[in-house]
Amino acid sequence: MNPLDATAAMTGSTLAGNIVAAVTDVLGHAPTMIALHEPEFAGREWEYVKDCIDTGWVSSVGAYVDRFERDLAAFTGCARAVATSNGTAALHMCLLAAGVQAGDEVLVPALTFVATANAASYVGAVPHFVDSETRSLGVDAPGLDSYLSDIAEVVGDDCVNRRTGAVIRCLVVMHVFGHPADLDALDALAQRWKLTLIEDAAESLGSYYHGRHTGNVGRLAALSFNGNKVVTTGGGGAVLTNDPELSRRVKHLTTTARTSHRWNFLHDEVGYNFRLPNINAALGCAQLERLPSMVERKRVLANRYRERIAPLAGVRFLHEPHGTRSNFWLNTLILDTPAEAERDTVLAALNDAGYMSRPVWTLMHKLPMYTNCPRMPLPVAERLEASVINVPSSAKLSD
Ligand SMILES: *Cc1c(COP(=O)(O)O)cnc(C)c1O
Repeated sequence: MNPLDATAAMTGSTLAGNIVAAVTDVLGHAPTMIALHEPEFAGREWEYVKDCIDTGWVSSVGAYVDRFERDLAAFTGCARAVATSNGTAALHMCLLAAGVQAGDEVLVPALTFVATANAASYVGAVPHFVDSETRSLGVDAPGLDSYLSDIAEVVGDDCVNRRTGAVIRCLVVMHVFGHPADLDALDALAQRWKLTLIEDAAESLGSYYHGRHTGNVGRLAALSFNGNKVVTTGGGGAVLTNDPELSRRVKHLTTTARTSHRWNFLHDEVGYNFRLPNINAALGCAQLERLPSMVERKRVLANRYRERIAPLAGVRFLHEPHGTRSNFWLNTLILDTPAEAERDTVLAALNDAGYMSRPVWTLMHKLPMYTNCPRMPLPVAERLEASVINVPSSAKLSD
C-alpha cells in the first residue's frame, strides 16, 4: 500500500469508528437490528380498527374517512384534505387537478423518491430534473431561476421551454427527510415563471415553514401514510389544497368520477379508484392523535444526534433550515469532501453494528426510464447522492 492509500484507509476507518461510537452513544447497543423507521401504535389504533370490524364499515366509505380528512385539514391548516389509497396516487391527482397535459414538462427534483417523477409520467408529461441546495436539500430556487432564464420564456400565461417547445406546467418541490424547502423563494419563482407550485409533502407531516404547515403554499400538496412515514395508515395518502374547487375535483377523480344519485351508476369521465378504505382511515385517526407527541420525541432524538455528531471532523448533521420546524422524519449525516469516499465504509460499519443505515435515492436521471429526460446541471444533487447517510429515526428511540 502506498502512503497515500494508507492515510485514506486510516482516515476512513477512524471516521467510520467515530460515527459508530456517536450513534452508539445516542441509541445504546443494538441487540438486534434497529430499523431506519418503524411504525408505532401506542394510542387508540386497535379500538378504532376493531370498531370498523364490529360495525362492518371496513371498505371504501365510512365515518373514519370523513373524520380523517377533517382532522388532516385541521392539523395542516389547509382548507381541504382528500384521502387517497397512497401517496403516489395523491401526487398523480395533484398533477391532473393542476391541469397538466400530455406532452407538458413538469419540473421535479433529481433528488427525490421515484414516485415524484412517476406521477408526471402517469399524466403523459415529461419530468424535467432540477438541482438541490445544501441547507434544506430541497429545490435550489436561485439556481433554477437562472437556468430557466437560459432555456425558457413566458408566453402569455405559459412557461415555454425554448429548446423543446413544450409548456413547463408545474414545479413540484419536495421536503426532503421532513426538512421544509425554501417555500417563499420557490413560490415567488413559480409565480414569476407562471408555474403551478405543487408540494410533495409525503415526508413532512408535522413540519412547518415560518409557522405554516408544509403543503399550504403550493396550489396542491401530497401526503403519504406508508408504513415508513411519520404516521401510517398501512398504506395511504392525501391531497391537500386551500381551493375548494380543486378538492371537489380530486374527490371526484379518486372516487371513479361517479355523479351523485340514489341508485344510478353514472360516471362522467374516466375516474380512478384511489379511495382510502375506512379501516385504514381508522388507523390514521388514531395515529394523528399522537402526531404532536411523536414529532416532539423525534426532535429530542435529532438533538441527541446533532450534539454527538457536531464535534466530529469529516461529517455534519443536517439540522432544520433557519425559520423552519422539521419533523426530522429521517436523521441525516452528510460526509464532507473528501470523506464521501468513505461512505460505503461508514454504511457497512453502521449496519454491522446493528444500526440500519441507508444512502439517499439514486438520482432520477440515472434511472433507465428517465435517462433521456431534460435536466439542468445537477452538481449539488450529485454531491448529496454521494455523501448522505440516514440513520435510525423512530420516535421511540428517544425514550
Ligand atoms: C413515500 C413517498 C412518496 C409516495 O408515497 P406512497 O404512499 O409510498 O405511494 C412520494 N414522495 C416521496 C418524497 C415519498 O417519500
